[in-house]
Amino acid sequence: MNRCAASPVVRGEVGDRIAVVGAGWAGLSAALALQRAGRDVTVFEAARTVGGRARRVDDAVLGAIDNGQHLMVGAYCETVALVRELNPDTDVNALLLRLPLHLESLDGAFRLRAARLPAPLHTLAGLLAARGLSIGDRIGALRMMGKLRLGDWRAPQSTRTVAALLDLHRQSGTVRDRLWNPLCLAAMNTPAPLASAQIFLNVLRDSLGADAPAGDFLLARSDLSGLWPEAAARHIRVVTGRLVHGVKPIGDQVQVDAEPFDACILAVPPTVALRLLASVPDAPGLAAWRETLGSFRYRRIATVVLRLAKPWPLPWPIMMLDSDHSRGDYGQWVVDRSATHLPPPGPAELAVVISDAGDDLPEQHDDLAAQVGAQIRRQAARRPAMAPMPDIVAHRVIVEKRATFDCTPDQVRPGNRTVLERIWLAGDWTDTGYPAVLEGAVRSGSAAARGVMASPV
Ligand SMILES: Cc1cc2nc3c(=O)[nH]c(=O)nc-3n(C[C@H](O)[C@H](O)[C@H](O)COP(=O)(O)OP(=O)(O)OC[C@H]3O[C@@H](n4cnc5c(N)ncnc54)[C@H](O)[C@@H]3O)c2cc1C
Repeated sequence: MNRCAASPVVRGEVGDRIAVVGAGWAGLSAALALQRAGRDVTVFEAARTVGGRARRVDDAVLGAIDNGQHLMVGAYCETVALVRELNPDTDVNALLLRLPLHLESLDGAFRLRAARLPAPLHTLAGLLAARGLSIGDRIGALRMMGKLRLGDWRAPQSTRTVAALLDLHRQSGTVRDRLWNPLCLAAMNTPAPLASAQIFLNVLRDSLGADAPAGDFLLARSDLSGLWPEAAARHIRVVTGRLVHGVKPIGDQVQVDAEPFDACILAVPPTVALRLLASVPDAPGLAAWRETLGSFRYRRIATVVLRLAKPWPLPWPIMMLDSDHSRGDYGQWVVDRSATHLPPPGPAELAVVISDAGDDLPEQHDDLAAQVGAQIRRQAARRPAMAPMPDIVAHRVIVEKRATFDCTPDQVRPGNRTVLERIWLAGDWTDTGYPAVLEGAVRSGSAAARGVMASPV
């Protein structure tokens, strides 16, 4: 994976007319890069709203919410650059709330804050002063961070999963429960015993292991489609509500349904890419490539938005929840939408994230919302300074069944280039070095665009 650097403008020889299928963050990032380089781009999007898995949902009662609460970090530099570029007249702080690293549980039992020191001391000193960990836990975590840095954030070959990495570095049960497991689940939506150690280390390297701003948390202050995808769609030809059925190379062109283009970027999930190319006759390497695309497995994420009867500010805009599915405590993070969003949705609104939302959640959304509400009320009640949580007056539960791919060490991920000369891939599931995240999608899109432009055909 490349760390952030300005993307070079590539002048190649491929023809001018490029199709992009999918207006998620990857497809739009690709289309913008092509457009900037003077190509004639058309984006086809099946949905009516752009943004893909990070988009606005219009709720009859709550108004504009998102299909899922998203958290970004300062290391998402290509994403932040797009937000700036597409909103040239707005201060970026009015678009993204930037918070210094601050992990705190709602019940007050755990807290880790970055210290005001130069990197890497800011996280190391923060770890040393963390509340809720014994001195042995803190020194153990500190030692692990130091060793990972010295090892250039490379997982030993024998240490394939995050759990194995934590075993290797002798992390205690408490530090796993309070810190590493929640971070792993938040970043990778895959539990530590199954999650890829190397990809987790890539995330740590570029966030907690980098300079202080890279580890800042960034929260959108508007809905996710409004953050930049809709502005992008005003600059590019985007055909929404258009489900593409097939993509086929014919001679020196690519047909997207019946329309000819010089090249095409498939910025859709792997299952869709497979379907779109189903009628392409066998070519060298195609069968193996199809097998790779068919090998992805997925995990769910549920988001519960709760509107409260009265204002109820959280101590910090994003807080950790003590999560234990066996007790019915499903929520892992709670975001105070009244603190993050402009204008604040009111009088108070919370978004609760349930990563790796398995089959054990209550089937009825009303029951899940009530249970998550009860979890927050109970955990907040452990903080003497907090008023009791007001009544919930409205809620919305959204479960995204294929929120992210299962980020395991065995998952092979294809690059942007396919075995078909004029057909390229973009998406968070390509070989970005990151788990399924927004920045991976954006970088994959710009890399696919560079590939198309540098292509000799
Ligand atoms: C609930 C949830 C929470 C998340 N939380 C975070 C987070 O906190 N931080 C983070 O960084 N990431 C998070 N993610 C992951 C992030 O949303 C994704 O990595 C990113 O949105 C993927 O973008 P993409 O463009 O690769 O794919 P997609 O967004 O899936 O885009 C594919 C697009 O293709 C369109 N399409 C599909 N088939 C066709 C067709 N036949 N014709 C035309 N169009 C088609 C789809 O409608 C879609 O718009 C979360 C995801 C979910 C679902």
